[in-house]
Amino acid sequence: MAQADIALIGLAVMGQNLILNMNDHGFVVCAFNRTVSKVDEFLANEAKGTKVIGAHSLEEMVSKLKKPRRVMMLVKAGQAVDDFIQSLVPLMSPGDIIIDGGNSEYRDTIRRCKELRPKGILFVGSGVSGGEDGARYGPSLMPGGDAEAWPYIKDIFQGIAAKVGDEPCCDWVGEEGSGHFVKMVHNGIEYGDMQLICEAYHLMKDILQMDHDEMAKTFEEWNKTELDSFLIEITADILKHRDADGTHLLPKIQDTAGQKGTGKWTAITALDFGVPVTLIGEAVFARCLSSLKDERKVASKQLQGPNFTPFQGDKKAFLEDIRKALYASKIISYTQGFNLFRQAAQEFGWNLNYGGIAMMWRGGCIIRSVFLGKIKEAFDKKPDLQNLLLNDFFKKEMHNSQESWRRVVSTGVQYGIPMPCFTTALSFYDGYRHEMLPANLIQAQRDYFGAHTYELLSNPGHFIHTNWTGHG
Ligand code: NAP
Repeated sequence: MAQADIALIGLAVMGQNLILNMNDHGFVVCAFNRTVSKVDEFLANEAKGTKVIGAHSLEEMVSKLKKPRRVMMLVKAGQAVDDFIQSLVPLMSPGDIIIDGGNSEYRDTIRRCKELRPKGILFVGSGVSGGEDGARYGPSLMPGGDAEAWPYIKDIFQGIAAKVGDEPCCDWVGEEGSGHFVKMVHNGIEYGDMQLICEAYHLMKDILQMDHDEMAKTFEEWNKTELDSFLIEITADILKHRDADGTHLLPKIQDTAGQKGTGKWTAITALDFGVPVTLIGEAVFARCLSSLKDERKVASKQLQGPNFTPFQGDKKAFLEDIRKALYASKIISYTQGFNLFRQAAQEFGWNLNYGGIAMMWRGGCIIRSVFLGKIKEAFDKKPDLQNLLLNDFFKKEMHNSQESWRRVVSTGVQYGIPMPCFTTALSFYDGYRHEMLPANLIQAQRDYFGAHTYELLSNPGHFIHTNWTGHG
């Protein structure tokens, strides 16, 4: 009997928690998994006492669904998604909906949308963020794909998503693979936000010689300012945390950062599209450099830095400078991320919901922060805003922060502290605000050695070559 509102395939951590979340919101879910024994285990344990039902085959699962049928997958990204789609299609009818909630590559989602459209199956690729807890109690959801599907999944998606006030952290992103594209950039921005916080921590620790409790208190204070965010909040908790022996845990943790690849995908996509997403790129490279632990051990004994004299300035004032440098750099990172969206929209002909994207990240996900509300306001005010930095609010914030930011970068450089993201952000800001960059010299060099031609400022669009050497 058709009784389920939606089917969910994939009973690992994400799938199970999302099912329980849907159940809490009054939806009847039919659970399925490749290893079918997990269905009964789930029904007998985690889902005991709920309205969740199960199926032991895809045929049985589909037969239990109300029409149009909605099937969501939360399985390992890649071949597993294609395999399930292939098995599902003969069982489904035109107008039915398949949703991929895994971390799929956005180009795969574009392909799947294109393959399923002629069959009449509506395909949605949705970013799901917030990990296990988010899935259970309110994730950030970023659905994109066949827009005809949205009216049929909107209630479920917005029902289970995180809320900020009454606003759900879920809205329709746009066409084809745009939902997964936005999730990819979300993860890249997460890399950037984390690295920026690490740079602030490094400056506090090595220049200001602050102890862990002092730093924790500072981050707690910062969390009451424009920086109010999940990552700042957990950083304070981490800094405070003590081992069973009463000493702080953080300094004992190996300083080599892992990565799963979504930050790298964002940086590669930015390079492919020719968009300067420098901060995420630097954040990825910072993790790569951190992983060279053995080499760094050797180099630390051989390569000299500047002479380290204790900080003589006003410590409180410098801490405020670091806070403002972090804030300004973060604005640059989001500016670059939204520039990447704009380029992707142009490349693929997507109509992206920019303000909605900021709102989707406002809660439920790792990069959730109050500041995202300001990005939404900027796009609400001017949906075709070319660059966040040109919005009045962000312009003012940059102007208010830039002196602090420059002091932090120059002091950090003098002390020999690596700050790849603080510095690249400032360079981007300075590059973007210069009408004239030294690229005129690059053009001349290219013309000199390769006859690549150049344009004159006074005559754009007209390409000329100079015989720079006077040789024939
Ligand atoms: P996962 O470990 O990525 O995947 C396990 C699930 O995929 C199981 O249901 C497994 O079935 C199924 N599966 C694996 N290979 C398969 C294959 N070849 N054919 C059919 N099914 C296959 O699970 P997860 O951590 O819950 O994540 C699910 C998806 O959400 C992934 O795409 C992940 O990247 C994404 N995601 C995860 C998180 C997170 O915090 N974990 C956050 C956001 C998004 P069996 O039980 O039969 O092995």
